[in-house]
Amino acid sequence: MTFPPPLAPLAVLAHPVLDWSDQAAPHSRHFGDVYFSRQSGQAETEHVFLKGNDLPGRFAAWQETRPFVVGETGFGTGLNMLCAAACFHDHAPPDTRLHLVSTERFPLQRDDLARALSAWPALTHLARPLIDQWPLPVGGVHRLWLDERVILDLHFGDSVERLARLDGKVDAWFLDGFAPAKNPEMWQPALLKAMAAASRPGATFSTFTCAGVVKRGLSAAGFAWRKAPGFGRKREMLRGEIERPPQDDFRHDTPWFVPPPARRARHVAVIGAGVAGASVAHALARRGISVTLLDRTAPGAGASGNDQGALYVKLAAQTNLQSRFYLAGLQHSRRWLAQLDPERTLWRDCGVLQLATNYREARRQARFLANHPLPASLVEGVDAATASARSGIRLEHGGLDYPNAGWVRPRAICQRLAAAPGIMFRRGTVECLVSNDRGWQLVLANGERLEADHVVIANAAQASRFAQSEAFPLQVVRGQITQIELDGKATPELKRVVCAGGYVPPPLDGRLIVGASFRPNDSGQELRDEEHAANLAELAKTLPAYFEALQQADVELDPTRLQGRVALRAASPDKTPYAGPVPIAKRWHEDYAMLAKDARRTPATPGAHHPGLWISTAHGSRGFASAPLCAEIIASRLCDEPLPLERELVDHLHPGRRLIRELITSQ
Ligand code: SAM
Repeated sequence: MTFPPPLAPLAVLAHPVLDWSDQAAPHSRHFGDVYFSRQSGQAETEHVFLKGNDLPGRFAAWQETRPFVVGETGFGTGLNMLCAAACFHDHAPPDTRLHLVSTERFPLQRDDLARALSAWPALTHLARPLIDQWPLPVGGVHRLWLDERVILDLHFGDSVERLARLDGKVDAWFLDGFAPAKNPEMWQPALLKAMAAASRPGATFSTFTCAGVVKRGLSAAGFAWRKAPGFGRKREMLRGEIERPPQDDFRHDTPWFVPPPARRARHVAVIGAGVAGASVAHALARRGISVTLLDRTAPGAGASGNDQGALYVKLAAQTNLQSRFYLAGLQHSRRWLAQLDPERTLWRDCGVLQLATNYREARRQARFLANHPLPASLVEGVDAATASARSGIRLEHGGLDYPNAGWVRPRAICQRLAAAPGIMFRRGTVECLVSNDRGWQLVLANGERLEADHVVIANAAQASRFAQSEAFPLQVVRGQITQIELDGKATPELKRVVCAGGYVPPPLDGRLIVGASFRPNDSGQELRDEEHAANLAELAKTLPAYFEALQQADVELDPTRLQGRVALRAASPDKTPYAGPVPIAKRWHEDYAMLAKDARRTPATPGAHHPGLWISTAHGSRGFASAPLCAEIIASRLCDEPLPLERELVDHLHPGRRLIRELITSQ
């Protein structure tokens, strides 16, 4: 096997077929083995994995601001991970955090998960949020918050492939997975090598098995191991620690993406209180960091200021890094919104239909479906009859249906985020950023100066006003929405957000929003009648039966009499957001100048970054699908914890990608 193995294609993972004939423990038909000990699964976990890694004592002594990180192969029912979380709550000081990372190739069905975990009533407080947030069986990383102190990153896919692209370091490993004799495919030297590469100095491991192949693999990967008394009828188990961590971090080809070193983060300033900035502020405040959130006007006053918007993605026909990122972002945003607002007053997962209103789009969607094997509960191709039944309106075209997507109240969400504990909102225009030996000084338009350890630039197209971020091209895209007042008139019920050229969500508070125009390089902020007219024409084309019903109900549709709102969105040239640390562009041009002559020659120099400076922008018109995940990426990197995406996707979002591409294409 090449190492690291290539990124696995996007895939739906098979659920395991379980045998429940033994009431006390589920049994895997495929592997012919049990998920946990029939005698006492919890006692075995405590013995083999918690004590095997000295976790009660290490948790009690944990004082760091970064979380303690536990990694696992084979999540199964989650018993080990939930026991680790419970142990952390029992022993660790109250202001510390735990980060769990676990791989799983055959995720359980949600009902099986709930059934298996019902055996442990003492863990219900952790099992409930796990079951509630349990992801669809889509390969990739799924971040769950079990509570405000415990993050769980589920890496769905093969352990070897997943751990080789884990962007983060682990303090203690649970080497689980069915017995090596029953699951030889997983227990390969490459697995132990990937674990070693993702180990912090001093990282420990434990495992229930003493198989020779495991001992040899551990030694070869640089782990010291010793035998310890096993649990129950098992005489022996293994435990140990990393002795010789590999120097290799697998970034030979892309040294520019080596993350900047961690630095103190007590107070962070975030510039821009739209969804990009407010979600970063919220992610940092959740981690106990004090945040000053600045905006020229108010939270959700700019492009995230509409009363209602669509939570959706528009994906390329081919699976590429961008479509993988947006799919991960959409799934993440749904979990994030459900935690932020379980009552669903600020959003609704009513589903989004993306209609194919012409032959070209129908062909594109057919290619998309062929290239994206995804569960129907995430995205499904539907014909006009099904689309009509699901939307409640007679439609003339089929399309892609995203049953889990929906609509959001952008401004209200930004306001909710900005009001979270730990965030201080203040009005102010930041003119420039000056670095000093303590961090950053923000110079405001009124002459005031603010100090912060880190700064996150999240002010859409205005991001390029700062000297440090001016090298990252941003395009302004004007978008005007049209508001149609239904005034209590009898109109049919629209049940899904329907998109084609624009989007139409179900009416909210008696008002129908139709949006939005798309005018690149136009920064005019005035309402225009012709854009209202174009939005109405789009509505008539996408939803003709609905439009007719509005006319018949005598709803006001005269473009000169309609209200609306204009927003200026920001986009990058490749339409992927910029999210990550801010490179020192001048240094990159010098350090990587040779790429302009020969793109195959890669210098070993790691990328130079402005210390403590971050960016999240270019979210375009899909910010609610991208910004919350980008916020987690920045907060995780800033707090020195594992990232919620595969390394390749983290790199794909890195703003420095532009600089490298420019150098290579200047050849
Ligand atoms: N740790 C689990 C718990 O607390 O319930 C029990 C793990 S169970 C014994 C082993 C798990 O490893 C199964 O869920 C199985 O699907 C998973 N697994 C097996 N081979 C794998 C592989 N190559 N990559 C990822 N997961 C794998």
